[in-house]
Amino acid sequence: MAYANAQELLDAIQPATGGTEILDPATGELVGRVAEQSAADLDAAVASAKAAQPAWDALGHEERKRLLNAAADNIEANAEALAELLSREQGKPLNGPNARFEVGGAAAWLRAATAYEVEPEVVVDDGETYAAKHYRALGVVGAIGPWNWPMMISIWQLAPSLRMGNTVVMKPSEYTPLSVLALVHVLNEVLPADVLNIVAGGREVGEKLSGHPDIAKIMFTGSTPTGKAIIRSSADTVKRLTMELGGNDAGIVLEDADPQAIAEDLFWGAFINTGQTCAALKRLYVPESIYDAVCDALANVAAKMPMGVGLDENNVLGPLQNKAQYDIVASLVKDAVDSGAKVLLGANPDENAAGYFYPTTLIADIDPSNRLVVEEQFGPALPIIKVKDTAEAIKHANALEVGLGASVWSSNREQALEVAAQIQAGTVWINSHGTIDPRIPFGGAKQSGYGLEFGLDGLKSLAQPQIIKG
Ligand code: NAD
Repeated sequence: MAYANAQELLDAIQPATGGTEILDPATGELVGRVAEQSAADLDAAVASAKAAQPAWDALGHEERKRLLNAAADNIEANAEALAELLSREQGKPLNGPNARFEVGGAAAWLRAATAYEVEPEVVVDDGETYAAKHYRALGVVGAIGPWNWPMMISIWQLAPSLRMGNTVVMKPSEYTPLSVLALVHVLNEVLPADVLNIVAGGREVGEKLSGHPDIAKIMFTGSTPTGKAIIRSSADTVKRLTMELGGNDAGIVLEDADPQAIAEDLFWGAFINTGQTCAALKRLYVPESIYDAVCDALANVAAKMPMGVGLDENNVLGPLQNKAQYDIVASLVKDAVDSGAKVLLGANPDENAAGYFYPTTLIADIDPSNRLVVEEQFGPALPIIKVKDTAEAIKHANALEVGLGASVWSSNREQALEVAAQIQAGTVWINSHGTIDPRIPFGGAKQSGYGLEFGLDGLKSLAQPQIIKG
């Protein structure tokens, strides 16, 4: 069915009484209530998913594709109600590359999981020996998600899992459970019972899920420390893992780049979702020769971007989603300013604001080893580091333990490709940053994780390869 607005959708997922209050990070007002679930609820959800899995697998690819496309239709039929709820709970504005964009992305990524055939692959066929690789369902997949893009990332986890014949148990972030409960509710209006399950609990539910004997694989997106904890707790049951972890993506500007031409794309590369994006540009390296011009061009673009309450159509930037993240950003910027770095924009939060608003902040003339550079800020504060040449920028880019994405900005494609090849990151974009695409595999290098999502690689990673010889 189509819900007229977020309140109708909330009424369908909230407990009649009680539950934990979820507050709007922009205003402090009540968004809704969530029924806290426990480890016992998780056992029941895993048991339901396990019981439903053989029949779901037996439906076959074509029927599962049909159902997943019908579920995407239902997201689209409820897009405005979903976007409004997402905006109120997560904080991101309706407009700009934010809530409506995320709901549209959720539908698009769900459809993309139906766009490939996963055929058996003949490995050897020489007249004497025949062997082929088949892709079988794994069983029940556990999906543990973050609070920054709660709907879209849930789809990244559940869509390829379901397509490949697995059933799913979701554990959303405790900061944004309503968005994921609403999304799952809309999907479950179309999907067979118990194929897609959700348990909205805290960290202890996540811990239990990652050690549960009936879970074959964990799809995890979140911070690197939590990823390490999940790797440990999944060891005894030898689970398959896809780990999409934290990053601190470098952008490298080459001397031939045109500062005016790249400024807006640099801005959105860094500030999409108010900087709360795994693969956002989090440190920008610029050569001396064009340093001032890049700083000026970026500051001009950034100063014009309105920040405020998400439901106001004028805004394209919102609050930090929670107090803990606000405190991280405020502390990193304060340290940078105290160290003598130059504030080009922002760094002056209104301490009396009702919401967790931290102003769009650009920090120049900052030491490459400053905390704002080497730690993940995950918010609207970009350090711009002056380098003498590209070699120095590459050295800094590769110096950290993480390597999710990176970008190279240049008017010379050949030169940009040469630099890209020297960067230790899962994706290197040229003249853009973070521009993901459901057809193109995505995953981290180093401590940003392992395993690929999206495209055919993403589907195969939700399957058990089985060789048949003979
Ligand atoms: P987080 O690691 O704090 O929490 C993520 C999820 O893990 C939550 O659902 C939480 O309840 C659960 N959890 C916490 N402890 C657990 C445990 N011991 N066992 C199992 N589950 C546990 O991350 P966050 O703060 O929600 O998200 C922000 C981080 O996520 C950033 O570092 C960001 O870079 C990263 N991120 C990465 C990607 C990517 O694709 N690589 C995408 C989005 C966000």
